[in-house]
Amino acid sequence: MSIEIRSPADGSVVGVVSDQQPNEVTEAVERLREHQTSWENIGFAERARWLRRYRDWLLDNEDQLARILQSETGKPWAEATIEVPYAADVINYYSKHGQRFLTEETPRAHGPMTLTKRQRAVHRPYPVAGVITPWNFPVALSLMDAIPALLAGAAVVVKPSEFTPLAISTALAGWAEIGAPPVLTCLTGAGATGAALVDAVDYVQFTGSTRTGTAIATRAAERLIPCGLELGGKDPMLVLSDADLDRAANAAVWGGICNSGQMCTSVERIYVEAPVYEDFVNRVVARVRELRQGTDGPVGAAGAGFRYDVGALANQAQAEIVRRHVDEAIQAGAKALVGGKPAGTGTFFEPTVLVDVDHTMACMREETFGPTLPIMKVANADEAVRLANDTPYGLSATVFTRDTEHGERIARRLEAGAVNVNDVFTNLFALPLPMAGWKQSGMGARNGGAHGIRKYCRTQAIVSSRVAPRSEPMWYPYRPLRGNLVRRLTRFVMARDLRRRLGLR
Ligand code: NAD
Repeated sequence: MSIEIRSPADGSVVGVVSDQQPNEVTEAVERLREHQTSWENIGFAERARWLRRYRDWLLDNEDQLARILQSETGKPWAEATIEVPYAADVINYYSKHGQRFLTEETPRAHGPMTLTKRQRAVHRPYPVAGVITPWNFPVALSLMDAIPALLAGAAVVVKPSEFTPLAISTALAGWAEIGAPPVLTCLTGAGATGAALVDAVDYVQFTGSTRTGTAIATRAAERLIPCGLELGGKDPMLVLSDADLDRAANAAVWGGICNSGQMCTSVERIYVEAPVYEDFVNRVVARVRELRQGTDGPVGAAGAGFRYDVGALANQAQAEIVRRHVDEAIQAGAKALVGGKPAGTGTFFEPTVLVDVDHTMACMREETFGPTLPIMKVANADEAVRLANDTPYGLSATVFTRDTEHGERIARRLEAGAVNVNDVFTNLFALPLPMAGWKQSGMGARNGGAHGIRKYCRTQAIVSSRVAPRSEPMWYPYRPLRGNLVRRLTRFVMARDLRRRLGLR
C-alpha cells in the first residue's frame, strides 16, 4: 500500500511513499535493536563524530532538501531553507556539550550505610526511541529530537506526517549514505503506523496535536514506557502602552504569519493596552498589506527564491479550520481589516487581521494554525494577563514593553512554558533552555541543556563495595548482641540531638 503526496500549492502529486504496516514497524524496530548495543558501546566521541559528518551531509544537500520540502509543504523558499541550519545547530550544540551532560556522577556517601561503597549514577539510553512528527516543520522537528537521542546512544525511528514524509525521508537516507551504523531509520505511514511504533519502542517523543498526544500518552502508560509530548498552542502576545510599537508590530506580523501561521508557537492572539491600540493595529495592518503571497523557488531558478513571504497552508483540512475561525468571528461581529478569505488556487489563505474579537470566538480560544492575527483591546496589563491565561493551552507567550524588568515580572504571571520579552520565538533557538508546553500544550520538555539528552536515558545506579568482609553487620543471622549494637549505632548516627543519639527517654 502506498500514500500519494500532493503539493498543497496546486494539488499536483509530488511523490509516493509506502504506507508501512504494523508488522513492518515491529520488524524495523527489531533490526534497530540488533545494532543499538554497539552504537551505545562505541562511546560518545565516536557517535558525535558520525553526527558531525551527518551535519556536513545535510548542509551539502540543503538545497535539494529545501526543494523537496517546498514541494510537499507549499512554504516559500525563505522558510523552506531554515530547517537544515536549525538541525545543524542542534548537532553542534549537543555534540559539543553532550559528553559533559552524560558524564556519570559519583556522589559521596551521605551516611554510614554507604561509607565503604562506591556509588555511581550512569546515564544509559533507552534502546530504541520513536520520534513522531507533524507536517509543519517536517525536517527540523524530526531531527531536533532524533539528534540528542542518537548522541545519547539510542537507536531512532522517525515517523513523519503522512502529508510531508518526502524531505525528511531523503534527509534520513543521508545517514546511510555517509556509511553511519544502521541505527536511524524512517517509517512512513499515517496514524496506524505511528500507533504501531508506540507499541514497539522504548521511548516516544511526539510532536503534534493535543488529541493525538493524549492517545499516545494513554498507550504509553499502558505499556509503561515514558513519552515526551510537544502539543498545540494558542500563544498570546501582550503589547503594553510603553512598547516600541514598530518592533512589536513587526514581531506580531512575522510571529503570526510566518510559515502561514502553522507554527506551534505562532502568535495566535494579541492583547493591546487601550492607549496604543489604534496605533498598533494601524502598523500591523500596513505591514500585513505589504506581504507577498505565492510559490517561489530556489534562487537562480524560474520564480527565483525569496520572492514571496507567505506560502500555502499545508493541507485542505487545515485550510478549512482557518476559514471556519475567520468566518465564524466575522458572523459574530468581528471585522477583517485586511484579508479574511481563501486566496488563489490550492490552500492559500490571505494573511488576515481581525479586530472586535472576544473570547467567545473560536479564533481566540481554539488553535487556528493559520495566517490570522486577532487583536483585542484591553484596559491594562492585568486584564491582558487574565485573558492570556484564559486558555487550556500553555506553550509560549510574548510580552512587549520598553521596561524589560516589568516584562519579566509579567512573564512570571503567565501560564506558559516559555515567554519572550520584546521578541518572538527566540526561546526556540536557546538550546540550553527547555522548550516545554504547560497545561494541554505538552508533557516533559525538549532541549534544555542536559535535560534534552538525558531524557533519552535511564539512569542506572551502580553501587560497589570497596571492602568485602565475609559478612555485613545487617546480614543473617540476627543475634541480640549484634542487633542491639547495630540499632544503637544507627540511632547515634541518624539522630540530630544528644538525647536521641544516646537513646535517652
Ligand atoms: P497530528 O497529531 O494529527 O499528527 C502528528 C503525527 O502523529 C503524524 O505523524 C500522525 O501520522 C501521527 N499520528 C496520528 N495518530 C496517531 C496515533 N494514534 N498514534 C501515533 N501516531 C499518530 O498533528 P498534525 O496535524 O500533523 O500537526 C499539527 C499539530 O502539531 C498542531 O496542533 C501543532 O500545534 C502541533 N505542533 C506542536 C509543536 C510543539 O513543539 N509543541 C510543534 C509543531 C506542531
